Order: sequence, then C-alpha cells, then structure tokens
Amino acid sequence: MRSETEVSDITVIGGGLAGVCAAVAAARLGQKVALVQNRPVLGGNSSSEVRVWVCGATAHGINRYARETGIMGEMFVENQYRNPDGNPYLWDLIILETVRAEPNITLFLNTDVHEVEADGDSDARQIRSVTGWMMGSERRIRFESPVFLDCTGDGLVGFLAGAKYRLGREARDEYGEEWAPETADDVTLGSTLLFYTKDAGHPVKFVPPVFAKDITQTPIPIKRVIRSGDSGCHYWWIEWGGELDTVHDNERIRDELWSVIYGIWDYIKNSGKFDAANMTLEWVGAQPGKREYRRFVGDYVLTQNDIMAQEPFGDRVAFGGWSIDLHPPQGMYAEESGSKHMHADGNYHVPFRSLYSANVVNLLFAGRNISATHVAFGTTRVMA
Ligand SMILES: Cc1cc2nc3c(=O)[nH]c(=O)nc-3n(C[C@H](O)[C@H](O)[C@H](O)COP(=O)(O)OP(=O)(O)OC[C@H]3O[C@@H](n4cnc5c(N)ncnc54)[C@H](O)[C@@H]3O)c2cc1C
Repeated sequence: MRSETEVSDITVIGGGLAGVCAAVAAARLGQKVALVQNRPVLGGNSSSEVRVWVCGATAHGINRYARETGIMGEMFVENQYRNPDGNPYLWDLIILETVRAEPNITLFLNTDVHEVEADGDSDARQIRSVTGWMMGSERRIRFESPVFLDCTGDGLVGFLAGAKYRLGREARDEYGEEWAPETADDVTLGSTLLFYTKDAGHPVKFVPPVFAKDITQTPIPIKRVIRSGDSGCHYWWIEWGGELDTVHDNERIRDELWSVIYGIWDYIKNSGKFDAANMTLEWVGAQPGKREYRRFVGDYVLTQNDIMAQEPFGDRVAFGGWSIDLHPPQGMYAEESGSKHMHADGNYHVPFRSLYSANVVNLLFAGRNISATHVAFGTTRVMA
C-alpha cells in the first residue's frame, strides 16, 4: 500500500457534472485543482453507468431561449457535433476530454473519499484534508487545499466535516411553501435503475431470473407507460426508496429496482401483449441513480417562493428553468402519476449564498446537495 499527499488550491470531490464544471471553472481561473471521483468514469448520473439525460433551463423547449452556455454549453455543443445519436459512451468521452484539456486539473478516478480532517467550533469549522482510497491501485491519498468543494451528490464530505444539512421535506410553515407537506418528514425522491433494449434481428427468448417481480400484481402495468422498444430515460419512473434512506438502504433499493426491471422485461417479452419477439436486453444499470439525499444549509436556503417569483438575487450566479418536479414517495408503486410539475414564468436564479456552507468556512458545494428546500430542489437538481 502507498500513502501519499496531494496539495492543490482546490479539491473537488465528486466527478458528476457539477464537480466537472466546478473543477474546469476553477482550473480556468488559474487554480490548481484535484478532482476526485470514486467511480471509473466521470459524469455521475449522466454517465454511461446510469444514463440520465441532461436537462436544464429549456425545460424540453418551454423556455427555448434559455439553453445553458458556459462549460455545460461547450459540452452540449461538442456532444451535438460528435454524438448526435446520444451514445452514452461517447458522452463519457466528451466529459473526460473536457477535464483532460485542463492542465491545472489532476484527475483521480476510482478514488473514494471517506475520511475528513476538520477542526474548529461547530459554527466555524474548517476542513484541513480529505483522504481517499484509490481502488485497484492500493493508494491511500490525502488531499490538502485551502478550499474544498463537495460535489458528491450525497454530501458525505460536508457531513463528515460537520456541515449543517437537511434531509427530507420541510414543513409548509417553515418557508411558507405551498407544495411542502404540513409536517416535516424524512421523505426524499427515490432512486432509479434504467435499461436499454435492442432489436437483435432474430427471435430471442427471455427466461426471467427467479427474483423477477410479477408486475401484474402491482399498479405498474395500469399506471405507467410500458412499450416495446423504449429504453433509458423513458423508464425514469422505475423509482423506489423515497420512504427509505436512499444512501444506507442503497443495496436494498437496487435489488428492488432490478426485480422490477426484469419483471417489466418478462412482461414485455412473455405476456403476449407486445410485439417484442426479436427484442433483447442490451444493458441494465447496476449503479442506482440517486436523486436526493443531504441538502447543505448555506447562508441562504432557496425556496419554492423564490423559484416562482424568479427572485433576482443580488448575488445570483446561475439560472434554472426546469419545473419544480416532485414525485410520490412510493415511486413506481404509487397509484398517482409518477411526477407533478410547477413551472415559473421562465427562468429563476440561484444565489451564491446557496453554494457555500453556513458553518464550514472553506466548504463550497454544487449539484443536487446545494442549499435549497426539498421543493426548490425539485428543480435545481436537474443537471445543466
Ligand atoms: C433516474 C433519474 C432521473 C433524473 N432525471 C433527470 C433528467 O432527466 N435530467 C436531469 O438533468 N436531471 C435528472 N435527474 C437529476 C440529476 O441526475 C441529479 O440531480 C444530478 O446527477 C446531480 O448531479 P451531481 O453532480 O450533483 O451528482 P451526481 O450525478 O450524483 O454525481 C456525484 C458524483 O460524485 C461521486 N462521488 C460520490 N461520493 C463520492 C466520494 N465519497 N468520493 C468521491 N466521489 C464521490 C459519484 O460517483 C458521482 O459520480 C435525474 C436523476 C435520476 C436519478
């Protein structure tokens, strides 16, 4: 085993789209950046490991003028040029090349950060270092820098540093949010596994695994759209775990999602209701796409009312335009629709005060763990 120390100006932990954009932005400002990602590819939920489509302020064409520019915009344009078919592996490459093009970034793939050294009072904590284990290389790497960015999605680094955070839904009267429940609870959006299918050009049989769920015993065939030939994000509604703990119950959630994917495929292939004789599974996700976990508390907590009022904060640094997009706690087993949407009249703004910790002095964050209520997170979570 090797122990080593990497010293830089900024350590970005988490190589999803949030971490990638943050690292590239810092590098272009002349900062020496360590980008630390615990999986073998960059992109987080948008990567070929999970395959979530990148959405943003255009909201599928409702705000046509609003497509993101900046670093995200560069990757969009490159993707349109090199990858018009939306091949997930080519998208991985575009993200990787965007990072590799920056000489100021040192990229650490396969490096899982799970130790944080921090000190100071609870209202003024300071991170000294984070430490990760690089899988496959037996390297224990300690990262030191004056500033740290938690872009892990789940917010492990900030949590270990003692940063204030929220989990679940705020009560309605806390911020006066119409879509918040009357009393606060632990409910989050659930996690999802997706799958891809293809026409093999000849008949293919499917023998379901013993753990495949009989989906005819669930509301799924009646309440959700199932079509032969659909793939990937068409199945965004294969969602579960909103009433569990999406991190600590991650393995249980994955098993339930797998049982339903194979149950759906059994239904498509073997129920006789679909034209699917030549169809086969091309890819099945193994890494649950997590929608929601910790949301850090910054100097400002973005709310439903800010989104709907399109509050023009003096310190606005980013914009969004996707709807507030919330899902029922029961996910795919809910009798109701899989999502509900509330649109502002155009774009809304994200203040800088929502992107740094209220009590850890050198911690910033980006992505799905920013300082927003559960309801506001319903829109800020989309990636672009
Ligand atoms: C099924 C599903 C459908 C969705 N639909 C859409 C959609 O259509 N369009 C859209 O734009 N958004 C959608 N979202 C939301 C969006 O995917 C997330 O909000 C988004 O991925 C957040 O980006 P992120 O970079 O903050 O987090 P993530 O994408 O989760 O990335 C975090 C990264 O950090 C890494 N990491 C975590 N912990 C550590 C650690 N300890 N050390 C090192 N690295 C670590 C992870 O491997 C991961 O790569 C959906 C989400 C899901 C799950």
